[in-house]
Amino acid sequence: MPTYEFRCQDCRRLLRLTLSFAEYDEAAPVCPHCQSRNVKRRIGRIAIAKSEDARLDSLMDDSALAALDEEDPKAIGRFMRKMSREMGEDLGDEFGEVVDRLESGESPDAIEKSMPDLADGMGGMDDF
Ligand SMILES: [Zn+2]
Repeated sequence: MPTYEFRCQDCRRLLRLTLSFAEYDEAAPVCPHCQSRNVKRRIGRIAIAKSEDARLDSLMDDSALAALDEEDPKAIGRFMRKMSREMGEDLGDEFGEVVDRLESGESPDAIEKSMPDLADGMGGMDDF
């Protein structure tokens, strides 16, 4: 039976599910981790026209995250810069400053402390 790749939209896990063609047609896959049915077929990376979701997916790919050393501010800075480039969005002056400081080796904690307004936005870094 063929194996399909899905992304759980709730817990963001990558799922490899082996389904028969009939199952694939009829059944909505259920995430084995959080029992969510909010599961989307993963678009192959060779797709030429990538949707915004797919681009983010390939960016947040498990291998990219595994390669990210959370203890290394420079690696985090490079990752964030790459992320903003791939998204094609200007994420603002503060984001640029954070990336610059990370790349110069400053710890995320120190940056967060010196930029109190940023604290909320940086909360998500724990999810990386
Ligand atoms: Zn899930």
